[in-house]
Amino acid sequence: MTKKVLIIGAGVAGLSAGIHACRNGYEVEIFEMHNLPGGLCSAWEKKGYIFDGCIHYLFGTKPGSQFNRLWREVGALSDVEIINQDIFMNIEGGPGKVVHIYSDLDRLEKHLVEQFPEDEAVIRKITGAARAFSKIKTPMEKPEELYKFWDLPPMLLTMMPLFKVMGQFSRVSIAEYLKQIKDPFLKEALGLLIPTGYSMISLISVLASLHSRDAGFPQGGSLKFAQSIERRFLELGGRINYRSRVIEILIENSRAVGLLFEDGTEVTGDIVISAADLHHTAFKLLRSKNLTPLIKESFVNLPTYTSVQVSLGIDCDLSGEAKSVAVKLDKQIALGNKQNNYMCLTNLSFDSTLAPAGKSVVRAILFSSYEYWEVLAKNKERYREKKDNLANQVIKEVEKRFPSTKGRIEVIDVATPYTYNRYTNVYKGAYMAWIVPPDAGRFKIPKELPGLENFYQIGQWVAPPAGLPGSMLTGRHMIQIICSRDKKPFQNG
Ligand SMILES: Cc1cc2nc3c(=O)[nH]c(=O)nc-3n(C[C@H](O)[C@H](O)[C@H](O)COP(=O)(O)OP(=O)(O)OC[C@H]3O[C@@H](n4cnc5c(N)ncnc54)[C@H](O)[C@@H]3O)c2cc1C
Repeated sequence: MTKKVLIIGAGVAGLSAGIHACRNGYEVEIFEMHNLPGGLCSAWEKKGYIFDGCIHYLFGTKPGSQFNRLWREVGALSDVEIINQDIFMNIEGGPGKVVHIYSDLDRLEKHLVEQFPEDEAVIRKITGAARAFSKIKTPMEKPEELYKFWDLPPMLLTMMPLFKVMGQFSRVSIAEYLKQIKDPFLKEALGLLIPTGYSMISLISVLASLHSRDAGFPQGGSLKFAQSIERRFLELGGRINYRSRVIEILIENSRAVGLLFEDGTEVTGDIVISAADLHHTAFKLLRSKNLTPLIKESFVNLPTYTSVQVSLGIDCDLSGEAKSVAVKLDKQIALGNKQNNYMCLTNLSFDSTLAPAGKSVVRAILFSSYEYWEVLAKNKERYREKKDNLANQVIKEVEKRFPSTKGRIEVIDVATPYTYNRYTNVYKGAYMAWIVPPDAGRFKIPKELPGLENFYQIGQWVAPPAGLPGSMLTGRHMIQIICSRDKKPFQNG
């Protein structure tokens, strides 16, 4: 008898699980509270401008790369132009102080060594590690849960070149590692590339993927990307129910048996997979039952990364301008307990589909605490006022950096961590999953809960820090595990 799989959430994890489940002979229904696929991987349209809420760079954009193959399995990236940048970011620290983060590692190394000769040794260590990393294939297609002892020797062999790099960079945070850099501007600049709480290996892997052109931007952006995955799911016979907010996972005799919706209706199935946010699933949908201490403690002890995004629709062609700039602010901007000394601006005119002809979108990102906006949101006027104030500060910086935009800003959009939470239920509007301290040792949130059968959790929180590729992979892995339990060979094509 065909088993029925119920999936909560049509983010990339839920869609990926849905696709692999359909392909392996399960009957699949996804329930999504929003009216669109993608979850955090989304975009919204205002007066002809597309404000992209997610992708800055996507691992797996290079044809033939490991993640590229996995993206193609779920219907993404096969017929889309990939936009790679020669310069990942320009960091402008004041008059005469500019660092270009070139995607090409040789160019980057030369540029940095020329500018900061006293830091040559550490620059070469970083670029050398990234070069080595760019040549390595990490085993990822098979879930750890299915490893057999005979998988280990070939795996160790593939991983061998990685051990040296991992040994040097995986147990230290970016912030800690950068302390050895002598030049304060270089230290500041390298600390702007990704959040400095992550392990240094995360920065190495970003530099490596940029170098091998495997971290590009799919033309059309996040929503179009998510829609291509949704299309594959529907083609394979899956069903999606939009505007279907689950309020409880139904349990009978320690087995998940179905879902309860806010309109009071219920649906039953053989397997329940939550691809919705873990905190929401654990504390709301499961009523805090069957949780492990690790889940509870992680939400108390581990930090997450949250930001505000201000997007501007501008009646001005910025295609000849820099694509990504971090500008040093004359005056720090504090949002809750997060201070911003720089404002990161992305000029999205590299993708002509995101704005009407001759016009441009510029997006600013600032760190912010979630609580700051959550408290403000209790008073709509104050919330709006703070959003307007922030937008004005961004406009000032954009007009300063791109003078041709002066007086030509047509549309303003501010998405706070509170906005992200409201639209997707993501815990505290988090950008990705927790920032796990690099010295925390092995950290793994299991996809199953003790004493609860037929229930599985996937998505970014079971593979921190995840991001889109990691989240997609949790969906595939889940179905591989389910197939193995049902004694079926896993089909991926
Ligand atoms: C601003 C921002 C920028 C980012 N940039 C990048 C980037 O450049 N590259 C990258 O790789 N990653 C990026 N990420 C991270 C990436 O978006 C996430 O890691 C990934 O999208 C998580 O996918 P997911 O499927 O696990 O969860 P989600 O996308 O959160 O999907 C969960 C889905 O479940 C639905 N849902 C929740 N509760 C319910 C309920 N009760 N009933 C029904 N449906 C429900 C939600 O609406 C949502 O659709 C970014 C994230 C943010 C916020």
